[in-house]
Amino acid sequence: MFGLVKPRAVAGLAAALGLGIVALAILPQAAAQPGQRRGPAEMRPEGGGAAQQGQGMRGEGQRGESPRAEGQGGEGPRGEVPRWIDTHVHLVSGVTNTTGDWPGAVRAAIADMDKNNIGLAIVMPTPQPPGKSLYDIADFTDALRKHPGRFAFLGGGGTLNPMIHIEPDAEKVDDATRQKFANIANGIIDAGALGFGEMSANHLSVNDAHSYHRSRPDHPLFLLLAEIAAKRNVVIDFHMDTVIEPTPLPPKMKEMSQRNPPVLTPNLAQFEALLAHDRGARIVWAHAGVDHTGVLSVELIRRMMTTHPNLYMSIKALPQSPEPNATLAREGRLRPDWRKLVAEFPTRFVIGTDRFYGSSATGMKAGGGNANQRASAGSIFLERTVPMTAAAQTLLSQLPPQLAQRVAVDNVKAIYRLPN
Ligand SMILES: [Zn+2]
Ligand SMILES: [Zn+2]
Repeated sequence: MFGLVKPRAVAGLAAALGLGIVALAILPQAAAQPGQRRGPAEMRPEGGGAAQQGQGMRGEGQRGESPRAEGQGGEGPRGEVPRWIDTHVHLVSGVTNTTGDWPGAVRAAIADMDKNNIGLAIVMPTPQPPGKSLYDIADFTDALRKHPGRFAFLGGGGTLNPMIHIEPDAEKVDDATRQKFANIANGIIDAGALGFGEMSANHLSVNDAHSYHRSRPDHPLFLLLAEIAAKRNVVIDFHMDTVIEPTPLPPKMKEMSQRNPPVLTPNLAQFEALLAHDRGARIVWAHAGVDHTGVLSVELIRRMMTTHPNLYMSIKALPQSPEPNATLAREGRLRPDWRKLVAEFPTRFVIGTDRFYGSSATGMKAGGGNANQRASAGSIFLERTVPMTAAAQTLLSQLPPQLAQRVAVDNVKAIYRLPN
């Protein structure tokens, strides 16, 4: 059965991580039942998967209720949202995130998924820097397996990512380190992960409990990870706040956190080198529509998508934003240039809210300000990321129906190789 762990492989990873590993079977029944919970009125005309290839634009205008770009202020009617997959979520087990209530965090996720018609969520550890390696898949997969069919996971944010960031500008890495890194990476996939995440090449801090770290995107260990991802036929979920040339820190990022550096180091060309290094590696660039540096325009994404066939993006919609590169404008209106972009690349976008889920006890502690424990970034994000789920639905509701189905479900199945 898919995802069932082979004991020998598990032992290998356990040894590499120094952690216990659980066997985990992923039964993505939600993915196998797209549209399961649609109401009677919103069943959409759909052909077979192959028949839909290349028809991303056809939904536009096919039906009277199809949303349209109406220029300034205009907002098309919003359609129903299919039962959808959230490809990017995190769990918070406690205030410090080192110990605590993983089952409670998973229960909180399930409750929210049920409320919001989310069939499947892909859980991953946050991208952690050296010295702050708090947790990885071994900590939470036991809790996930109590809900078969509702979760898949990525790993490496707490194990591989810190290794890369030990020497951010390394041009060479010794053989022993490469071997150790490869062993951990392969162990993660052997343990049932659909890929590696959350990996980060440039991670701006958005509050003082939130880490800043960067490494060159073509770091030898990122290149090695791309090779392993290609060989194992899995994805890399990749966080990179984009910098084209040396840039002073934008004032808004300075206000958010003391941790960010005064000048940001360029990374886009090196990211392109990573993408070109092994075209078999499917890289999902996280948080499309959230542009902390002000350069990730729709036009730039279009060029990147055109140039790099192995590049995908997960959209993190904010409820509404005045920022020109955000997906949703006033009143949650999907910007026409974003709708056009997604339609131009109908197989390349998925939804990834970046939601953080934790038990209510964790949330209370985080909000309550226990004097002895500073809240982790994750516990701060428990509250802050709640609106992202509704924003994702708002966005999906404004795509043509066939395109919404792809972004919500079909693309995830193809990109993450979810079993039917
Ligand atoms: Zn991220
Ligand atoms: Zn994330």
